[in-house]
Amino acid sequence: MGKTKHPGPMKLPKTPDPKHWVSPIPFGLGKVKPKHIRDTMKVVMENRDNLPYAYRILTQGVCDGCALGVSGLNDQTLKGPHLCTTRLNVLRLNTMPAIEEAVLHSDIDELRKMKSKELRQLGRIPYPLSRKPGDKKFRRITWDEALNKIASKIRRIDPKQLAFFLTARGITNEVFYTGGKLARFLGTNNIDNASRICHSPSKTALKRSLGIGASSCNYQDWIGTDVLIFWGSVAANNQPVSTKYMYAAKRKGTKIICINPYREPAMDGYWVPSIPDSALFGTKIADDFYQVNIGGDIAFMNGVIKHWFEMEEELPGSAIDLNFIRDHAKGIDSLREHVENLDWKELEISSGISKIRMLEFATLLANAKSGVFVWSMGLTQHRFGTDNISQVANLAILRGFIGRKYCGVMPIRGHSGVQGSGEMGADPFSLPGGEFDQTNIERLEKLWNFEIPKWQGDIVGVSLENAMLPEDHERKINVFYTSGGNFLETMPDPHFIEKCLQNIDLRVHQDIILNSSTLVDAKEEVIVLPAMTRYEQRGGGTSTSTERMVYFSPEIKGPRIEEARSEWEIYVELAGLVKPEEKHLFHFTEAEQIRSEIAVANPNYDGIQHLKERGDVFQWGGAWLCEDGICPTEDGKASLIPIELPDVKKPDGKFYLTTRRGKQFNSMIYSETDPFNDADRYDVLIHPEDARAHGIVDKEAVVVHNDYGTFQGKAKYADTRRGNISVYWPEGNVLIPKGVYEKYAGIPEYNASVTVEKADLYLSQKDTKYVEKRIEDLEQDIS
Ligand code: SF4
Repeated sequence: MGKTKHPGPMKLPKTPDPKHWVSPIPFGLGKVKPKHIRDTMKVVMENRDNLPYAYRILTQGVCDGCALGVSGLNDQTLKGPHLCTTRLNVLRLNTMPAIEEAVLHSDIDELRKMKSKELRQLGRIPYPLSRKPGDKKFRRITWDEALNKIASKIRRIDPKQLAFFLTARGITNEVFYTGGKLARFLGTNNIDNASRICHSPSKTALKRSLGIGASSCNYQDWIGTDVLIFWGSVAANNQPVSTKYMYAAKRKGTKIICINPYREPAMDGYWVPSIPDSALFGTKIADDFYQVNIGGDIAFMNGVIKHWFEMEEELPGSAIDLNFIRDHAKGIDSLREHVENLDWKELEISSGISKIRMLEFATLLANAKSGVFVWSMGLTQHRFGTDNISQVANLAILRGFIGRKYCGVMPIRGHSGVQGSGEMGADPFSLPGGEFDQTNIERLEKLWNFEIPKWQGDIVGVSLENAMLPEDHERKINVFYTSGGNFLETMPDPHFIEKCLQNIDLRVHQDIILNSSTLVDAKEEVIVLPAMTRYEQRGGGTSTSTERMVYFSPEIKGPRIEEARSEWEIYVELAGLVKPEEKHLFHFTEAEQIRSEIAVANPNYDGIQHLKERGDVFQWGGAWLCEDGICPTEDGKASLIPIELPDVKKPDGKFYLTTRRGKQFNSMIYSETDPFNDADRYDVLIHPEDARAHGIVDKEAVVVHNDYGTFQGKAKYADTRRGNISVYWPEGNVLIPKGVYEKYAGIPEYNASVTVEKADLYLSQKDTKYVEKRIEDLEQDIS
């Protein structure tokens, strides 16, 4: 843990610098770009019935959108206002009234016709609801009836047949902590959270490479570092205020490099609304793009490392920080031997990047005195996600870019709860303050005073699959309790997921809104519980940002949904109903008590107990983890790990497909059009030459298909690496195989090999050609 403290927000330069402008034409006229003013006015209109409360949420609360982290309108990186349209778009979830009774109790088939966006717009869940098979409508029930039914069912099943899930948007550390503790109190380790499908490999990789499970640095390290690398990350779209930090970085001479198959327009140029010269003329963000193949990152990084070792042969110290390696790392000899045996041709084919371009990147980093690596799901959502991230760590270690100013590795988080969820123990591999291992189990058992089950819990994807096990199987899931989450629109193979959801006896959806998953039948009953937002919860709550800042968000005065309850209070009551004789062991009456217990359960969070007022914040671990190169590993050293080239399983003649985000927040879609490239949700981004080779013209109807599903869309010419296409997530999930997980972190694979054809050709041949071809594909293609 570092001794240096974060210095607090810094100032932006006041004078403009035309060198970084996108264009001298004001407001990007004629360019495809987000319309911030129009979008903001739309949000004002949406919230017009509750504007004072909306204003208080924005000025007093901690953002419930992404994990960049902001309290009110202030962050810890830069002085000046911090606000974005992502936060504004989720604002309505907090201010809208309850769903009208007539609509809520309308025919379930009518509700099912609505998209999740329309369901969301209906309003908040007002009171507990129940629906049994054959019921055409939700029935209002009391809290007592709801919780007693849930408790009675949980008492009747084996704890291994019980699974919990918590989403990551808006949920506080207090709720993650009580959720994780509740699961263990009830005897199950089947507890997971939404970070499973975005950043679980970041934690497993950073743990094995550096002994840490979080970003080693701060956003301020972006500002003035020599090289800032975004790898498989479109931070400008997903964490919009990060563009302000990028602007500040450019002004200090930082070079920004993007590595991604698609030349993301949002990372090319951005109009930062709160910076006058950028709002007017835009800011050129990326200095260079390396358009790798989907799944080609490991090969690219191996090529860079191979170049470094060759440079070292010629001139020792010209590429690798030999002092850092001598004092703080191990494994260099096996890494050298590994890359020396790799063939350049193979590296070029796998990565899609030429040897010369790899040398350019290797030289840029070799000449840099500092560097920060930032990544997101472009690296994590693969069968080899952990290996991807360990490769990034290899680069950082070899250059000594760890544990000092302007240096570090940063998995940038998408949801406000992604960083805190695992640190609070709400996943099957974690307990508060550490791993799910003997030492931690014993430590927590002493603190909690009850026995923690010792068996390994399942990740959420496996828990859902376990709903399909035979009735007498000890892991057949019979009760699935989810706080938020919409599995139909986040998991691969939605049709299969629907069957899983239907095959569970009792499903509990604790949420603020309805979504398509809530409407799926269960075998015995679906119970819906109305939850409070983070701004309504008694005693406030905390959330942890990407850079490990723990922010306090107070309870904010405003209208309330009469029967909605704090999620941690629901857990406490349920615990007492399932185990009345032991209820004293799971007893919190105030949020402050939870924070006090967190401070002991997770020693990194010592300090959380003092957070009480709006604006209160502290950073756990200090400014830099691994400060001065000393890692929290047994021997204090970082590990260099040889990483094999993955087989992406792309047969010749097929495309490799990945999924991307548009104007949305996770599965919540805010616009049918991507403001950065004008693409529709069913557009297929394809290189023009690839398209032409298949006789496909721009905007023509196409069918993308494989053994798992069929996707009908429109071709959109795009500047992407040839052989690679992308579609929007979650619409494209029909093409993603179910049950394929990364072996260390359990993240689902979100890429697949596919065939792309003109729609008329596909449709004219589908009854004859594909029926027979499926089996052949299955054999060579399955993961
Ligand atoms: S960038 Fe993220 S933290 Fe900042 S306002 Fe937007 S959604 Fe909230």
